[in-house]
Amino acid sequence: MRGNALSQTSDIRLPDKKNLNRKALLMRLERESGSMRRIYLDYAATTPTDQLVIKEMLPYFFERFGNPSSFHSHGQEAGKAIEDSRRKVALMLGATPDEIIFTGGGTESNNFAVKGTAFKNMPLGNHIITSAIEHHSVLNSCKFLEKQGFSVTVIPVDRYGMVDPNSIKKAITNNTILISIMHANNEIGTIEPVSEIGKIAKERNICFHIDAVQTFGHIPVNVDKLGVDLLSASAHKFYGPKGVGFIYIRKGTEITSFMHGGEQENARRASTHNVAGIVGLGRAVVLAQEEMDEEIKRMTRLRDKLIEGILNSVENSELNGHPYRRLPNNINISIRYVEGESMLLSMDLAGISCSAGPACSSSALEPSHVLLALGKSHFNAHESIRLSLGKYTENRDIDAVLNILPGIVKRLRSTSMARNSET
Ligand SMILES: *Cc1c(COP(=O)(O)O)cnc(C)c1O
Repeated sequence: MRGNALSQTSDIRLPDKKNLNRKALLMRLERESGSMRRIYLDYAATTPTDQLVIKEMLPYFFERFGNPSSFHSHGQEAGKAIEDSRRKVALMLGATPDEIIFTGGGTESNNFAVKGTAFKNMPLGNHIITSAIEHHSVLNSCKFLEKQGFSVTVIPVDRYGMVDPNSIKKAITNNTILISIMHANNEIGTIEPVSEIGKIAKERNICFHIDAVQTFGHIPVNVDKLGVDLLSASAHKFYGPKGVGFIYIRKGTEITSFMHGGEQENARRASTHNVAGIVGLGRAVVLAQEEMDEEIKRMTRLRDKLIEGILNSVENSELNGHPYRRLPNNINISIRYVEGESMLLSMDLAGISCSAGPACSSSALEPSHVLLALGKSHFNAHESIRLSLGKYTENRDIDAVLNILPGIVKRLRSTSMARNSET
């Protein structure tokens, strides 16, 4: 196991009470993972679980291991912890606790929202509106529904990845039962005009779902201000654990459940609760709330420095996504004549983890559906990298990228030119 850079991180001891200073912990992590300080710039794919979150979760594995559905005190203790997390989520969203259902993550919440609304409203209509740049958990749920007889309109986006609320308005028919649009895109960072779309949905009395996995915990998300009926979020995208998330379901909005079994979550989502995960999610919500304003400012500064630095030092490079209506932590840049995959590998060798597309599809060599939706050719859609920042990103990490990337691009361009001139 030793010698493998990845396995070494598992040697890190869990924090004790004296050692919760995060800076110190990070420095220890650096020391223990060998001589090279690896830089992580893929926070849009997943975030490390905050040490304070882990600390809050730990008792729920052994001391407070009870099943919240049990009536004895062991169970009650776990049940209380879940309700506590539910209140924290509700408070952050401007919702009430009974509107929150815990799930196994963003993918499940999106499946639940889209399929659940479709099946519930079958007697009223069969038409769904979504956009071309949604996460696959929404797009593939829609594809599944098409096979079941539903009809789906996929709204295109402009070259910045923006959905035009007017085109949604025009797509609505008497059969429309759901509009599902993401709050912000995970690849290019564009923030969609969801409150405008929410108004349109409300006027026509159509259920409105947003995938807020990239925004909840990062920028303000209030269900009334945005005018949404359903909302999905996932803990591991905001420094909570993986495999847990929630769906917000506005009071009065009914959706069909597809997890049948016990009476958990008011019989809307059966299965024994992931107690430690839900406790961790709740802690992560409060931390996010405390850190948000400061982090938005700090991240935006680092983001803009990195964008400007790359555009200035790499010829034929271009920012993807909206120039200012974008997530504070997202950078997606096209670099002509260089394959994103090759850039990712070279960056990895240089100690920087980034992405050439969403984590779930970067193993397949399909171009990104999001970049294609911006109007890029199949060829150009391969020439991009995504750098996503997070709360452990420091100024020196940005400097390191700016030191390393131009050289990598230069080298890759000269080898691809050489290859091209041979053929
Ligand atoms: C990560 C992500 C998801 C999926 O969430 P999981 O919890 O990983 O299943 C859905 N939508 C968006 C926008 C995401 O970034």
